[in-house]
Amino acid sequence: MTDWLLAAQHASSESQRRKFMRRHQVEYLRSTIRNCRECPLNRTRKNTVPFDGTPPKPIAIVGEAPGANEDKEGKPFVGRSGSMLRQMLEAGGYERKQAVIMNVVACRPPKNRTPDIEEVEACAPHFDAQLSLSGAWVVALLGQSALNRIRPGAKIGEARGKPFWQEGRVWVPTYHPAYVLRNRSSRVLVENDLQLAFDIAYGKNWKQPPNAISLSISKGNGKALTAAIDANGYAVWNSDRLGDTVVVLRDELVKVPVKHSNLIRYTVEELIRIGELGQGEDMATNDLHKIHLVKSLGGTIVQ
Ligand code: URA
Repeated sequence: MTDWLLAAQHASSESQRRKFMRRHQVEYLRSTIRNCRECPLNRTRKNTVPFDGTPPKPIAIVGEAPGANEDKEGKPFVGRSGSMLRQMLEAGGYERKQAVIMNVVACRPPKNRTPDIEEVEACAPHFDAQLSLSGAWVVALLGQSALNRIRPGAKIGEARGKPFWQEGRVWVPTYHPAYVLRNRSSRVLVENDLQLAFDIAYGKNWKQPPNAISLSISKGNGKALTAAIDANGYAVWNSDRLGDTVVVLRDELVKVPVKHSNLIRYTVEELIRIGELGQGEDMATNDLHKIHLVKSLGGTIVQ
């Protein structure tokens, strides 16, 4: 019997069991990528470069393709772009290890050229599997290739800084760190975009709109969840995921709070889909539980 299965069987709790299973899935995916021969890049690579980080995380960062350093080490963003990325994250108060980091393609294209459409398509199953396993419901897209993996034809210059909702995730396009290295004045924009993406993922800096109505939602066990509905009738999804935070309501719309409120609007169904991607004790799953809880209340709202 394999170690992970033995460990999973002897795990003392369901959450521990899930952790072992996830670790196994990660290892399995990494070895699948390591053995991939689906496109010609396998003939020129030194190493494949699967995602870095420990899932589940609420946010993933997607680059284009490994460069020379990444090819050598088998890890994404370890060269100059990686160093710039780290500094920009730190400027916003975040760290690399708070995200899963990956690329559109897992092998280095010769001379760092842009991966072509066949290579991107050949790597699509790996891309999808990595993103799914990451647990991320927010994704920072670094540069043109990352953006086009999700929105073919879109231009990074127009899309950057404008998060959008698609396929159950929030996508935040920004410039690639390599671009920042060439155009230093763009650094502040990318720092802001990354901070926005992490703030959304980690629920920071979210505020209840001043005109929100506070409600208490009965849980039927004598306890109550607090919630708020803003002047437009949207539920406010509060930031403090450890507190009484959720929210939902009549028209089943949930809105991100003020700072980001012009950007995204979620339906409960969408949030549930997000939650299903995170299978651990991560934020997405906590929120999933809360959403189920609120849904199961069947509209028992006590003011
Ligand atoms: N540039 C990328 O897009 N990805 C890396 O991993 C490194 C540099």
